Amino acid sequence: MALKVPCPNCGWRPSTEFAWGGELRAIDAPDAESDFARVFLPANVAGPQEERWFHLLGCRRWLTMTRDTTTNELG
Ligand SMILES: [Zn+2]
Repeated sequence: MALKVPCPNCGWRPSTEFAWGGELRAIDAPDAESDFARVFLPANVAGPQEERWFHLLGCRRWLTMTRDTTTNELG
């Protein structure tokens, strides 16, 4: 069974309609070294993390949601 993603505009939709945008990471100190780490060195945590998802085959909006990386539960 495919992962279902809750879109606030379209309701629960299969993850195959979405493009995963990666982890949402805060910009702490805007310098070249922290920019490199933020873009190319994901934290890859085991547990809940905030992520960006793009509803490519739906409303074509970006969503921010929390996904538990150990269970794929979305909140
Ligand atoms: Zn949508």
